Amino acid sequence: MAEPKRLPTSIATVCLSGPLPDKLEAAAAAGFDGVEIFENDLLTYDGTPAEVRSICEGLGISVTLFQPFRDFEAMPEPQRARNLDRAERKFDTMQALGAGLVLVCSNVQPAALDDPARAAADLHEMAERAARRGLRVCYEALAWGRHVNRWRQAWDIVRQADHPALGLCLDSFHTLALGDDLSALAGTVPAEKVFFLQLADAPRLSMDVLSWSRHHRLFPGQGELPVADFLRDLFAAGWRGTLSLEVFNDEFRAAPSRRIARDGLRSLLWLQEQVGEAPLPALPELSGIEFVEFAVDGAAREELGRLLGGLGFRRAGIHRSKDVELWRSGGANLVLNAEPDSAAAERFEQIGPSVCAMAFRVDDPARVVARAEALRYPVWRERIGAGERRIPAVRAPDGTLVYLVEDPARGARPIWEDDFRLLGGEAAGGGLLGIDHAAQAVAPGMIDSFVLFYRSLFGLSPDAPWELPDPYGLVRSRAFVSPDGSVRLPLNVSESTRTVTGRFVSALAGAGVHHVAFAAEDVAAVADGAAAAGAPLLDIPANYYADLGARFGLDDEALMALSRRHLLYDRDASGGEFRHAYTHAFRERFFLEVVERRGGYGGFGAANAGVRIAAQRRAARTAGPLSEGV
Ligand code: MG
Ligand code: MG
Repeated sequence: MAEPKRLPTSIATVCLSGPLPDKLEAAAAAGFDGVEIFENDLLTYDGTPAEVRSICEGLGISVTLFQPFRDFEAMPEPQRARNLDRAERKFDTMQALGAGLVLVCSNVQPAALDDPARAAADLHEMAERAARRGLRVCYEALAWGRHVNRWRQAWDIVRQADHPALGLCLDSFHTLALGDDLSALAGTVPAEKVFFLQLADAPRLSMDVLSWSRHHRLFPGQGELPVADFLRDLFAAGWRGTLSLEVFNDEFRAAPSRRIARDGLRSLLWLQEQVGEAPLPALPELSGIEFVEFAVDGAAREELGRLLGGLGFRRAGIHRSKDVELWRSGGANLVLNAEPDSAAAERFEQIGPSVCAMAFRVDDPARVVARAEALRYPVWRERIGAGERRIPAVRAPDGTLVYLVEDPARGARPIWEDDFRLLGGEAAGGGLLGIDHAAQAVAPGMIDSFVLFYRSLFGLSPDAPWELPDPYGLVRSRAFVSPDGSVRLPLNVSESTRTVTGRFVSALAGAGVHHVAFAAEDVAAVADGAAAAGAPLLDIPANYYADLGARFGLDDEALMALSRRHLLYDRDASGGEFRHAYTHAFRERFFLEVVERRGGYGGFGAANAGVRIAAQRRAARTAGPLSEGV
């Protein structure tokens, strides 16, 4: 598919990590057309503004804005005269930089006068001086401005100042954070007076707006603010121009600049689709997880096979040309990949046995690939043997491959039939229903990349975050669930490397699947099968069951039925029930879960996570090596 028609893009250097030249290179490499030069990035750079200009020229990017110019308007003398001198000096810098536009944000000084007419006169004077040099000025209402914090106030001042070199800067964060919007813009502000647009999203937090803005801004689509509505209102007013990102985020500034810059560009492609400007290939319809693939070697495969056998899986197929096995129980498929010189082998060498791929069932894999390419997510095509099917895949932010397969339930030919020699027989009792969820452990700096990946490529938005207590720190969890519940992807984030999640993150070298849960018709039968196979599930303390009885009013018989099978239990407000059990951790890399949902229960048993974590810690202490360094 051809590159969608889109508006020019820009990113503020403050969004990215590293010294200024690295930021510029990352922005250019991601495909931005321009950059806002944040003054502090220039102050800490040991080259001249002219050198910055020539770096930008060499990279083929423009300087869209120089910012910020603070605390300018409506100051008493002698500060007023000093501010005009300061402006002249910054104009010198701008000319050397090749920046034609400067951002003046509303004054926050206690000494600033509450006098819109004075503010207008001062901005008129500044615009007049700028115009003499062929420069322009835009004025932005900071959400915490002393006297001006709304775009209407900023517009009143710009209108009164009435200078062709003075216009507005609109910033989605400053407007939306105050619960304001741009619905009144059309008919109020002529589109050509909006000189600049800055876009940022954010999570909804209850904190002072300045700290919220300085530390928690996100790219559009990563947070919870109605940024698409904001842009729609601006377009409705007839505005078209450069879409520029201005995000202050501590994690972004600590992360590799190229990943963050790529995410930024993707967020603008996604946002333009949201407002109907530059459509992307349509979102897929998801209908389940067809398989999860583990990277193993011969020894890990044997050991994992024993763990899986306890849950009722059996070896169901052998790949025709590769050292790959299909393990299956009912509708749950697992691929154990020991093929040298493959994506799986690469993963195995880096981090040992781990989940290296998942496959989503989608309505049209080719369209998802086209969408991924349009959003610039890397697409992977595995080397195949003669007569084998090529299954396209995209890479998630942690490098996990997400294969895209047509749903056999919609009449597509199952992928297994071409590539595998299927072994006969079926597990007793019909086996598991399928893969209920695949949970990922994610380092704090990676979560926003995942949010954008699942939202922009697959249309999944995360549930409200919840927090899990771990004896050694907090784990934050967010789940992506497809509309019909067929794909469930919880993400667990830990800042502490001492939490179980944190240790999975470090074992997985950044991020990866830390547990896979299978759906069962009858989890008690699976647990009994595991006990019979000599593969006991994770032991749960008696105190847990005593509390369950107290919380849910379960009788002794029901509690006994749960406790002797090591089953955990949860019930939601509408009476939906959840029974589930865990295996021990497999070589500290991941663990497995079996779940039974009844009555429309949609959660993950979050209330039980603390008990699971403590049980895994105890199990690890008795097993030995897991406890080291903790
Ligand atoms: Mg701004
Ligand atoms: Mg789970």
